[in-house]
Amino acid sequence: MNKSDLRFVVQKHAARTLHYDFRLEMEGVLKSWAVPKGPCLDPSVKRLAVEVEDHTVEFGDFEGVIAQGQYGAGAIIVWDRGTWHPKGDSLAGYRTGRLTFELLGEKLRGVWNLARMRDQAGRHGHQWLLTKEQDIEGRELSEYDVLVHQPASVISGRTVAEVSEADA
Ligand code: MN
Repeated sequence: MNKSDLRFVVQKHAARTLHYDFRLEMEGVLKSWAVPKGPCLDPSVKRLAVEVEDHTVEFGDFEGVIAQGQYGAGAIIVWDRGTWHPKGDSLAGYRTGRLTFELLGEKLRGVWNLARMRDQAGRHGHQWLLTKEQDIEGRELSEYDVLVHQPASVISGRTVAEVSEADA
């Protein structure tokens, strides 16, 4: 990883409801989306990605349990991480709500899209869609579900349940 490389991380988070936090390093922070059903390698599948608050780059290494009573209480593992490479101007894409980028992770690779949806009044909200673009890294969901086949942390090999039990 070169110094100029931008990081991405996906943290699996067993909060009140299980979700995957998809984070892209941009302008010195991790832009973040909560993906309730997690990323999918199948280009025909769109996954809702709700934009949430920015996180620090350091938080991308966090694995453990957030204590009860605190925001986001529950276990977190680093489900995937690596570098990301925007296609075109990432800041402009972020602002206009259309990001295309390549992921070089351990589980997620190839080209992906994040597209912001409009509400019924045509306004931009916090809801985006995360989709895999058609390329050699795509897999049909009926054949292979990366969430099921590769559930563990890329840092420790632990599952979110194991972290929850060990660190509770
Ligand atoms: Mn979360």
